[in-house]
Amino acid sequence: IRSKLPQVGLTIFSRMTQLANEHGAINLSQGFPDFPCDPDLLAGVSAAMAAGHNQYAPMPGLPTLRQAIAAKLLASQGVSIDPEHEITVTAGATQALYTVFAAVLAAGDEAIVLEPAYDSYAPAIAAQGAVPVRIALEAPSFAVDWDQVAAAITPRTRLIVVNNPNNPATSVFSAADLDALAALAERHDLLVLADEVYEHLVYADRHRSVLSHPTLRPRAAAVYSFGKTFHATGWKVGYLVAAPELSDEFRKLHQYLVFSVSTPMQHALAAHLAQPDHWRQLADFYRAKRDRLAAGLTAAGFRLLPCAGTYFQLVDYRPLRADLGELDFAQWLTRDIGVAAIPVSAFYHDGRDQGLVRFCFAKRDETIDAALGRLARLQ
Ligand code: PMP
Ligand code: GLN
Repeated sequence: IRSKLPQVGLTIFSRMTQLANEHGAINLSQGFPDFPCDPDLLAGVSAAMAAGHNQYAPMPGLPTLRQAIAAKLLASQGVSIDPEHEITVTAGATQALYTVFAAVLAAGDEAIVLEPAYDSYAPAIAAQGAVPVRIALEAPSFAVDWDQVAAAITPRTRLIVVNNPNNPATSVFSAADLDALAALAERHDLLVLADEVYEHLVYADRHRSVLSHPTLRPRAAAVYSFGKTFHATGWKVGYLVAAPELSDEFRKLHQYLVFSVSTPMQHALAAHLAQPDHWRQLADFYRAKRDRLAAGLTAAGFRLLPCAGTYFQLVDYRPLRADLGELDFAQWLTRDIGVAAIPVSAFYHDGRDQGLVRFCFAKRDETIDAALGRLARLQ
């Protein structure tokens, strides 16, 4: 067949995990927890199955789950969301993102992507015949120059994708960032697609959702993932929040992409989400892991970049191995030292090399300590 995505191969996450498994390395590359999710959540799935909740869920998601999501958004962001018309439960954040790109973009349209960017955005844009227009953010702050973004807008620009908190930059938007984004979106009549899957993993300042900004609220689509919030990346359940007119259009595609999402999982998630405050503990839980990993990486001789959010830590490894490029370093570290990491160049379309790799700290303390034990041999 004629490939729509000739440049696309197996993702860096699959490749590094495969390499880690081949070499028995401790896998701090692909982002997923190595600890179990809450036993109550698991019991909720069995209970839902035993109760006979094994047939199709309603197309936009179980009403009880959407109500629980709306209540959580009110508690965490102070925003009032209509669960019936503004929330769609999706097969992970990935499907939510794809649904928005497919609903909004036609051939020849442009979508602005800030790099480093999560790997699914550009291929999903390109699959619509649209063009990803990249803007590179620079280490170590990865701050957005909104004038540069403004300069990249053309009459063909339909949307801007933002990832806040950012994987892999770990940066978090300030109030001024949201204001600048809102001003651009309003002036140029753009949709903002906000990937907020790490909403609860913010260590400095706080998370500001696009949904909480009055100018952005009617022109934003926000994407979330229970994989991050409930330590269950394999469940692939997420949700998409947007104003009713936008959600209507997204649902037209959603119903033909997946129709609906796993029913017993939705029951379990609804019950679990209704328990107060699980999400409030996440930042403290992960901050301790971040600090544990950071202390060991510093002692091992890495130069650490600030980590304001997500469950990733970026390091400059050049004080230890200035002779290797990022991919070579990540592969060498996996094969020879036994710790897998992700080269940050994988998040830039031009593969630029800044001497940076990403470690995931969504791991048991024993796993972090074992990895640090191996990395201590580097000096
Ligand atoms: N966006 C970002 C920034 C991510 O890091 C990830 C996955 N880790 C996703 C989207 C995909 O989420 P999901 O697994 O729910 O599809
Ligand atoms: N989001 C995860 C990461 O950044 C990986 C998800 C995937 O493997 N596609 O590591």
